[in-house]
Order: sequence, then structure tokens, then C-alpha cells
Amino acid sequence: MPDRQETQLHRLALQSLESLAGAGVGQLPKPPPAPASPPPSDLPEQRAPSPITSDKPAAERETSRRSPQEPKAHFSMDSSTHAAISTAPTLEVLQQEVAQCTLCQELATTRTQTVFGVGHPKARLCFLGEAPGAEEDRLGEPFVGRSGQLLDKILAACSLSRDEVYILNVLKCRPPGNRNPTTEESNHCRRFLDRQLELIDPEYICCLGAVAAQNLLDTTEAIGRLRGKVHQYRGINVVCTYHPAYLLRNPAAKKHTWDDMKLLMRQLGTPVD
Ligand code: SF4
Repeated sequence: MPDRQETQLHRLALQSLESLAGAGVGQLPKPPPAPASPPPSDLPEQRAPSPITSDKPAAERETSRRSPQEPKAHFSMDSSTHAAISTAPTLEVLQQEVAQCTLCQELATTRTQTVFGVGHPKARLCFLGEAPGAEEDRLGEPFVGRSGQLLDKILAACSLSRDEVYILNVLKCRPPGNRNPTTEESNHCRRFLDRQLELIDPEYICCLGAVAAQNLLDTTEAIGRLRGKVHQYRGINVVCTYHPAYLLRNPAAKKHTWDDMKLLMRQLGTPVD
């Protein structure tokens, strides 16, 4: 008779296979050659304590930051707008699902590779962009072009680094010509985004730009009206600010983004000047 651990492993394996089938994967893929998100085993054994990451078990963090009245974030999306989310048991399995996904025909045939996300798998803070650009598509990592360099400067100004936070996009594939994601594409990829957030279980999400903010919060409100306050997405605090690409074109808006970062860091309990 199987013991409890064996039964749990069996259940997780079944969930993973069902999830892969749901994403149209008929055959288990080989692991991608260079995972964008480091598996937990690649993390240092003794990670230095950081105010921006949490080594508490997800369930413990869940209990500590959500009131008993709040529904637990299981992201049971409305099937009229978003498909059922992935049930991948780990970020690594989810990344494999994403790498094999062909739900958006145009994106699947034009991408160089999928861009899953990078950072600490237990980050308290996620940065959410809209979709990979040309450099991201080439390198398989989000925010690595000029916008990414500016994001790195913003992180540094907040005494943060990429390996303390998690960086991801609404879409995992590059839209040709860097056009905005279509509603259909965003809805397709929501099954992966929501599962990714569920597995990371952050306390805060910083939306970078109107597309990410409007997608996540399901609103058409302008980014100028969304920024400067704390929103909620299924128990996660959300702060919105301008996309680094916009800041490169409109440097005068950098002061607003800095105000948003100060708001975010105050919320996180590590204020910056
Ligand atoms: S954008 Fe998302 S849903 Fe669309 S093909 Fe890429 S991974 Fe699949």
C-alpha cells in the first residue's frame, strides 16, 4: 500500500500531466537548455536573509498576509474570459508547459523562444511587464534590452537586485513588431501568468506600464490614474508605474516612477529616500 508521500507524488504527477495536456502538449518535452528561472536546487544553500524575499513556506506566508475573510488566491478564473489555469506543481514544470505552448499560432511560429521569467522563486515582490521584445526573445530573459538596463537602475536605487525579486511578463512570447498583445493572446497566456503568481506567491506586484496594469487589474483606466495608489489582485498588493521604455522616451516621467517606487518600498517596510 503506497505511503502518504508516494500518494502525494502520484497526485502531483497526474496534475502535471493533465496540465500539460490542457496546454496542448502531447509529449513530455526535454528540459529547456537554459532555464530562465533557476530551480530551487540552484539557489545557495544558505541564502542571506533579505527583506524582499521570504523563505517561509507559501502556506505560512499566505496565512500571515491575508485576512481570514479574504478568499484564498486559487485564481479560479472566469471561464468566459480566461481559460482554466495551469495546474503545474512547480515553476520548472510550468516553464516546460510554456516552452511547448502553441495556443497563439502567430506568436508560436514567430518566436525564437518563450520568455518565462527570472528571479527568486519566493520573491515578495514581482515586476510585471507586458511581453518580450526583440532582445528578450533572442536571449530568453525578460527586460534585458535598454528598458531592462533602466529597470536595473530603478532596482539599484531601491537597493534591490534581480535575484531578490521576480521579473515576468503578461505574455511569454514576443508579439511581432513589438505590437501590443491582443485580448485573445492575453487570455490564452493568463493560465500561465496566474499559475506563476500562485507558485511564487508574492505580496506585491509592480506593474510596469499600462498594458501590464490594465491586463492584471482588468481595467481600461489610464496608467496615469492607476499609479500612485495600492490596488489589490486576489490578495496581492499591486502598485503601477510607467514602463521603462516610456521613461526612456519621456525622461520627465521618471520622477513619478520614483514616487511610485518610494510608495512600494514603504509598503514593503524598506523605505527609500
Ligand atoms: S503567448 Fe502564452 S499562450 Fe500564447 S503561445 Fe506564447 S506561451 Fe502560449
